[in-house]
Amino acid sequence: MRSLICFLIALTTLCAFAQQPFLGVREWTSLRDESSGAAPYENLRYLTGLHRVPATAAFDQAAQFMLQRAHEYGLADAHSEQFPIDGAKRYGLMRSYLAWTVEEARLWEIRPQHLLLGDWKTDPIHLADYSHSADVETELVDVGNGASEADYSGKDLHGKIVLADGVLARVQELAIAQHGAVGIVSDMPNQTTAWSGLDTTVVRWGHLDARQPSGFAFMVSRQTAEALRSHLRSGEHVILNAHVKATVGPGHWTVVTGTIPGTDSAAGEIVYSCHLDHERPGANDNGSGCVTILESARVLAHLIDSGQLPRPKRTLRFVWGPEVEGTMAFLATHPEIKQRLSANIHMDMVGGDPFKNKSVFHVTGTPWSLPSFVTDVAPCFSMQSAPPPANMRRARRRLKRALSKPAQADKARAMN
Ligand SMILES: [Zn+2]
Repeated sequence: MRSLICFLIALTTLCAFAQQPFLGVREWTSLRDESSGAAPYENLRYLTGLHRVPATAAFDQAAQFMLQRAHEYGLADAHSEQFPIDGAKRYGLMRSYLAWTVEEARLWEIRPQHLLLGDWKTDPIHLADYSHSADVETELVDVGNGASEADYSGKDLHGKIVLADGVLARVQELAIAQHGAVGIVSDMPNQTTAWSGLDTTVVRWGHLDARQPSGFAFMVSRQTAEALRSHLRSGEHVILNAHVKATVGPGHWTVVTGTIPGTDSAAGEIVYSCHLDHERPGANDNGSGCVTILESARVLAHLIDSGQLPRPKRTLRFVWGPEVEGTMAFLATHPEIKQRLSANIHMDMVGGDPFKNKSVFHVTGTPWSLPSFVTDVAPCFSMQSAPPPANMRRARRRLKRALSKPAQADKARAMN
């Protein structure tokens, strides 16, 4: 499905140029007047309080919230579906993994200092996803990156905790499964380009391989990890106390969906998707995408129901689920929707600052084997710097005049 991701525009996006081939000034003005910056912001605030790891109670709480909003906003057939997972069951090409329940988790440095390095209750991001139960007080050993066998040569790791910044699942396999360590303290930068490393006090999220039978990992900031490394380099013993009460086992993925029905049931569906999962307090990736498609749903449902916008020919479907796996499970279970899907608008990290994040916006067409109109349409929306054709320039001028009406100033500010 990701190969079909396109850069069509959500109708609430403030991209005036992009709207013009499809909407008149009156429709565009209605959309602008109904759109709110405040509603998605408030919805986002709620989501960021939840540690939304897939197949956990907090994820289901986020899903329940989206469902409640879908009902409030008037989506048709709004409901949630649960897809069983056990680490073996497959949905399409994807093998399911497991659910995770955490009661408590704390990591203390006992020596040389007495410091609380992480507590699940206040900062769940400190515990890597799919960590297993443990209750140990033991020595910390620096294994460098920890993702290659050479990092372990000559080190006795049995019953110890390793300090590493390599890819977590690989460190888990080598340090825990092969060398007998009990756990990991990690400052793995889960993003090795862009913004990574700019702020050494940030705690990155991490996740272990859910199908591995044991092990835990605590995530710490680069600053904390460097302080531990410096103790070890100077020959001091670092003793940590790790307590984790958690279970990894069968469960379910939850996906919420609802529609704005089109006038022609044979015309197919446009699907708006996102991923609802992320560690707390993640707002941009991807609370922002989820509340943006939710706001698109609210605005479109209201304008269509009140007759301010014509009902579209195709059904618009909105889907909120865990990344990739939820979509795979949903589509594998509903081949009829897959069959009817004309295009998918997937919103991920729409709230990011491309300058701060040093990000680059890529536009990719569908492969030649899967030709689509999307390949032609996407550049129109994304390359705003290209000179528009004459008819678009005229429409743009009309739109500019309409948008500059003083009565709309407050709404426009709210949207910004
Ligand atoms: Zn994302």
